[in-house]
Amino acid sequence: MDKTFKDLGLNKQLIMAVEEQGYTEPTAIQEKAIPLVMAGHDVLGIAQTGTGKTAAYLLPLLMKIKYAQGSHMRALVLAPTRELVMQIHQAAVELGKYTDLRMVALYGGLGPKTQIENLKKGVDIIVATPGRFMDLYLAGEIGVKSLQYLVLDEADKMMDMGFMPQIRKILEVIPRKRKNLLFSATFQPRVEALSEEFLEAPVKVEITPSATAATTVEQAVYRLPNFKTKINLLGYLFENAGIQRAIIFCRTKGVADNVFKFLERKVVGAKNIRVLHANKGQNTRINSIEDFKSGEVQVLVATDVAARGIDVSGVSHVINFDVPLIYEDYVHRIGRTGRARAEGVAWTFILKHEEYHFAKIEALIRTQVPELELPLGVKIEETPFEENQEMLKAIDKQRKKDDPTFGGAFHEKKERAVTRKAKAAKKKGRARK
Ligand code: AMP
Repeated sequence: MDKTFKDLGLNKQLIMAVEEQGYTEPTAIQEKAIPLVMAGHDVLGIAQTGTGKTAAYLLPLLMKIKYAQGSHMRALVLAPTRELVMQIHQAAVELGKYTDLRMVALYGGLGPKTQIENLKKGVDIIVATPGRFMDLYLAGEIGVKSLQYLVLDEADKMMDMGFMPQIRKILEVIPRKRKNLLFSATFQPRVEALSEEFLEAPVKVEITPSATAATTVEQAVYRLPNFKTKINLLGYLFENAGIQRAIIFCRTKGVADNVFKFLERKVVGAKNIRVLHANKGQNTRINSIEDFKSGEVQVLVATDVAARGIDVSGVSHVINFDVPLIYEDYVHRIGRTGRARAEGVAWTFILKHEEYHFAKIEALIRTQVPELELPLGVKIEETPFEENQEMLKAIDKQRKKDDPTFGGAFHEKKERAVTRKAKAAKKKGRARK
């Protein structure tokens, strides 16, 4: 039986927040790391983005720091980029929403005024880039004496980006007696050296790239322009591809409901399909799974989270209507097909802003998944303006995450067009001289 968040010893406030995030069960790294941090160990976590690593250290941290106290930080999370700092801060705010803990994010790229004001109000947890943290420390804005927990997130990337000198300086000024957590996507010799240098008898937890996907599973992707075309393709496949028993995975409840309604009405009929997500009561969920297992219904539509851990094997088709954000889930899902020598098919539908995540999945499974052409019978819809904007925004965010110097193709398009014009004018002027 898989563990629940309650089993991991989290309190009510945190469990409520976790539920609101839609997390039904801990991910592998959470299951391993949370109890260790709670028990007071230094932890070395080897896990990539997409494994749920942020909550793996934030939840026990929130649990330990518990409630607002004094005016100086008691926990510090260092991360390499502004984007990542903002994300971690956001996650801390959301997971800590039923606590009174004060979280402050510190990063460069803008003036320190607001950040200093936030610090002055009193702070329990600081999430920061090493450079900005050091600047504000040297300016006398950060009290370090109460620090109990230090987290280095994406330590390998911090080293790549040349943050080691700042990190060393920070280590010199914070109290020696503290707990340390170090997370890194890779475990290279220099990460090992760093962990030896600053962790005390750490326990290592590693989320290894899981077993390569079962070879009897035929994987393929379809690249599509928008949500409605995904729906059209799904309808087409159900009518033409001989699908007997299928699970369709969707990222959100909203999408799952839409997919379910469409298939129920237009394609398979109410008798043959169930939808599974966190809004459905526990009993309904269990019944749906039982009906699917017994073969009474042939199609199950499920959200990522509701589907985690359900053990239904022997399906003919797994369809990832969206690319999963917990990359490990991809491997688990396609593992549901193709068991016991039966052939299985796993299709993934990809929109342009999902390419980023799918590339990470391909790296994880060390396979390039072939692309199928869109069948001629599938109507290609126009992309609505709003949907396109959302996708472009998401792509911008991804680029910024990988490259903090990236200015943004979306928000700053206008501005850049102006500078381009100015540059062109300047060039012209020079040419004339
Ligand atoms: P991370 O690896 O920390 O970047 O997390 C990747 C994504 O997984 C984020 O969007 C989280 O909100 C989400 N996530 C974290 N923990 C869980 C969980 N237990 N169940 C479902 N999603 C999760």
